[in-house]
Amino acid sequence: MDRRSVLKKLVVTPFMLPSLTALAQDHSGLPLHHGENGFINTDPDFVEAGFSEMAPWIIKKIPQTFSPSENVEIPRETNDGALINGNKPYTATWIGHSTVLIQMEGKTFLTDPVWADRVGPFKWAGSERISEPGLSIEKLPPIDFILISHNHYDHLDESSIEDIVDKNPHVKFFVPLRVRDWFEERGIRNVEELDWWEGATFNGLKIVCTPAQHFSGRWLNDKNQTLWCSWTVLGEKKFYFAGDSGYCSHFKNIGKKFGPFDLTLIPIGAYEPRKLMKPVHMNPEEAVQTFMDVKGKKLLGIHWGTFVLTDEPMNEPPKKMYEIVAQKQLPKDDFWGLKLGETREW
Ligand code: ZN
Ligand code: ZN
Repeated sequence: MDRRSVLKKLVVTPFMLPSLTALAQDHSGLPLHHGENGFINTDPDFVEAGFSEMAPWIIKKIPQTFSPSENVEIPRETNDGALINGNKPYTATWIGHSTVLIQMEGKTFLTDPVWADRVGPFKWAGSERISEPGLSIEKLPPIDFILISHNHYDHLDESSIEDIVDKNPHVKFFVPLRVRDWFEERGIRNVEELDWWEGATFNGLKIVCTPAQHFSGRWLNDKNQTLWCSWTVLGEKKFYFAGDSGYCSHFKNIGKKFGPFDLTLIPIGAYEPRKLMKPVHMNPEEAVQTFMDVKGKKLLGIHWGTFVLTDEPMNEPPKKMYEIVAQKQLPKDDFWGLKLGETREW
């Protein structure tokens, strides 16, 4: 890691939001999540599953990456565009997995846009899509900017990005540290790269790169060489996108600093086997806790029903989420297990 250039960036960044915990530094003066050989998770409770635990599960999953996936119907509805094109100040449309179309105070943006049939390093292998996107790229309204949480294939897809850029030549990307290179290699230059707690502005909105507990990599030799993050968007209302994350202490800090959030996108899927997934993927119970930690008002459950990544049934996450909501006697209407293609105002 080139510490000097990162340090320089930290100093010159347009507006930086310090946090006592997140900016805890090691002896080199850099934030603790900048490790010697890549980025690291800093929560004291974080313990990554070891290779000997992970290997048997990966071997068991390999045949699935080549074969058709389970046949489960994920609820969907045809989007007639009435809300999206209706000049509503705040809408959210679940397109699938972590891809959500947001309209906020006259600006339109996407989170982790992926329309691919399979996600992985090769088009012929990788996790298969089991449900069609809720809205085609052709049907999207003009997109102002895009938030990318990290470079895993189910969050950063080359053909989707190229199609969106073709249709929206001026679209701006906000990405975590070291992800800009991927865009520049593809000739895409309208990209702002931020570290945790750094912020930028976009036509009156403040966009802050906030922490998450996860990992990164697109091949065998690049693990954690690029950063992962969540995103906070602040206008008259407040929006939070948790990215891909295990449950961790960052969320309380984010809630303290920026909450309450009017809308939160929080992952509810990819949690089994629990022992292996817990450090990097929250389950529905932890998603509800995350929602409370960040002081959310509405939770839109993402990261489910689209790609077969882990062992839980594909339609289980929202059912579990509603079970937890009932157990905790929380207001059910604040928790959205949306249909694919469904738009709601927030
Ligand atoms: Zn991921
Ligand atoms: Zn993911």
